[in-house]
Order: sequence, then C-alpha cells, then structure tokens
Amino acid sequence: MSSILKDPGGKGDKKPIRTLAAGWLIDGKGSPALRNSIMEIAGGDILAIHRDCGPAELARADVDLSSCTLLPGLCDGHVHLSLSGTEDGGSRKRQLSATFQEARETIENHLKDHLAHGIVAVRDGGDREGHALQFKRNCLGPDSPVQVFAAGHAWHMPGRYGAMIGRTPLKEEGLADSIRYNERGDLIKVINSGPNSLSEFGKETPPQFNLEDLRKAAVCGHSMGLKLMVHANGRLPVKWALEAGCDSIEHGYFMGKENLERMAEKRIPWVPTVFAMNSLCTVLRGAPEAETAARNVEHQLEQIRFAAQCGVVVALGTDSGSVGVHHGKGVIEELKLLMAAGMRLEEAVQCATSRVAGLLGLGNLGSLDAGNRAVFIVAQGDPGQLPGSLNSPQAVFVDGVPVIYHRTSNISKSRAQ
Ligand SMILES: [Zn+2]
Repeated sequence: MSSILKDPGGKGDKKPIRTLAAGWLIDGKGSPALRNSIMEIAGGDILAIHRDCGPAELARADVDLSSCTLLPGLCDGHVHLSLSGTEDGGSRKRQLSATFQEARETIENHLKDHLAHGIVAVRDGGDREGHALQFKRNCLGPDSPVQVFAAGHAWHMPGRYGAMIGRTPLKEEGLADSIRYNERGDLIKVINSGPNSLSEFGKETPPQFNLEDLRKAAVCGHSMGLKLMVHANGRLPVKWALEAGCDSIEHGYFMGKENLERMAEKRIPWVPTVFAMNSLCTVLRGAPEAETAARNVEHQLEQIRFAAQCGVVVALGTDSGSVGVHHGKGVIEELKLLMAAGMRLEEAVQCATSRVAGLLGLGNLGSLDAGNRAVFIVAQGDPGQLPGSLNSPQAVFVDGVPVIYHRTSNISKSRAQ
C-alpha cells in the first residue's frame, strides 16, 4: 500500500491501463448495476464507459475484470480520525489527551484503514486538540490517495455536550465572531444538542445555541466559504439548524417527519450515522441501555425509510472513532444498515459516493462518468457480494493508478506483463 504521508515515493506504476472489462459496474448515482462494461481510462481520467459489450469486445480489453464489480471510490462523510473504535477505556482516554506526535501515527493508520476499504475522502467532525486538521495541514501530501476535510475543533456551549471533540465560543465574542476570528477548519462543526439518551428512549435535549446565533454563524461561515455541519438530535435542535441555513444535519435521531420534509425541500443532506448506535447494542450487551440503543436504531431506520420516500439527500457517515466503530470497516456496516432500511445496494452506494462527494464539493469524484477522475474500487464477485467484498477489495484506483491491489488479482498480472 502506498504511504499516506508527503513524498510517498510515487503511487506505483504510472503507465495507464487503457481499457478494463468489468463484469458489473455501479455508477454511484443509484442506477442499477451495468453488466459487461468497458471503462477506458487515460491520464488519470475516465475517457468513456461502454455498456452492454459483447464477448469479442470484452476479450480485447487490457484487463479482464469480468468476475469483479467496479464502483466509485467511497467517501465517509463523518469520522473522527484521531480516535479509534476501541472499546478499551484506557486507550480512549490516551487518544483523547494525545500529543500531536502521538496522534499523528493513529491518524495515519486510520487513513490507511480507509484506503484499504476503498475510501478515498473523509470529512472529520473534530477532535479536542484539532489534531486531524493539523495532520492535514502539515503531513498530508497533495498526492495523498485519501482526501481529508477537517473541522478542527467543533463548537459547543459551555457546560453542554461536546468537550470531547471541541471548544466553546468566547463569551464576549459569541458563536459567529468566534468563527470569524478563530475558525481554521475546512468546514465548521457546530454541536446543537446532546447525545442520545440510553436510559430514556427518545428523550430530547434543548438546542445548545439559539436560532439567532446559529443564523449569524451560518452567514459568517458562508461568507468565509465554509459549510456548517451541525450535530443535532431531536426536533427543535434540528429545526433551528435548518432554519439557520446549515449545510448538513449529523445524526438527526428523533428529528421527526416535519424536519425530514423540510430537508427534502431544501436539499439539505442528512448523515444518519446509524452504525454508531448499532455498535452500542453489542458493546453494552446484557445491560438495559443495550435495549434502548436497539430501539434507537429501529427508530433511526424508520426515519431513513421515510427520508428515502420523501427524497431527502441521505449521505453516508460512520462516526468512526466512536466506541465499536472502526475506520474503514464502519462503512461496510453503515451500508448494510442503509440497505436494512430498504435501500437497494446501488442506492446505498450512492449515499457513500456521489452524495458525500457533493457535500464535500468534489463534483469530479463519486460517480463513474466520462470526464471524471478515474477513482474506483475493484470488488471481487458480483454486486451480491457487496458490501462485504469491500473488506478486501481486489484493487483501489486513484487517478487511474492502482494504489492498492491484491497480488492475485488481474491488476497485478497486467502490471507484470
Ligand atoms: Zn461525530
């Protein structure tokens, strides 16, 4: 696997592979998987995709991937790179108070985990010391196969939830001015509710910021070219975030149908992070809290079902770094849960590709289209093997170059010729 750090020493063989014959191809826009396609790539871009190719045409392709499914490189819309999914309390404590030097290795390993599962872009929702942002600014090379968008520190109110991943606005400045003078991130993360209760099903917490403060924060952020990702659970915290002009709702448990309809209308993406709650069912097994967690999951799946029906832009985010949610692997679990909520595989993949790419402003990533960057995963087997086959992709291509690949795959054979 190539290095995540600066000067990785090249991304492998630069010689372009010109034509790939794919058994199945998922475009990242929700369309049913195509059978027997040929993808032409040159100079790091997709030149063309030919559908319904005959046996003679397929046989002429440079690389035979007839037993594989091609899909766009995935994006995880909600991670915390400086934290791992470990259940060990001592390790979590150490990660929370790590120096940058200590966090650097952790973050690099997590990015490798992402790449190993075909994830090529992540949006980091903040950490206490702002390590993920510092890593991006100081350590991540321009050629990194995984792109990172980091909030740095999240903003939360004094005495309210969020100290684990953020800081509070200065009293005299308020939220908008704190953003204006102190925000250094690629985006702004605001925490506008508490976490979900595990003792009382559906218990809501009041918004952390008032509507006016949120409004000013959104105007200020947008004037700086920064989007607002807002952590919000419950009806009122979500309602105010939407009214204020936020750019995405994170979690959104118990937000209710009215908010979902509003999001559909305004095309504001929702990142439901349902696996983070699902993993608590396992972590807390035997305790009464596990039952509440399971009910929370069921309720969130119902909300996802409704969201899909009314046209909400659901974007995949795992909240990796939460207890039991491991970087990379978490995406597979989140995809499974989106499918458990009724999405077809291709629709779930769309949530993890073009939907997040749109949120990150990466229009040339996230769908397999002529003219887009040739960033894609070669997964073994037919679409029925997904998402499990992402545990060990045959190859991951970034800009037409295989950055990881299995020695046994046709990719490596073609390289040896
Ligand atoms: Zn988070």
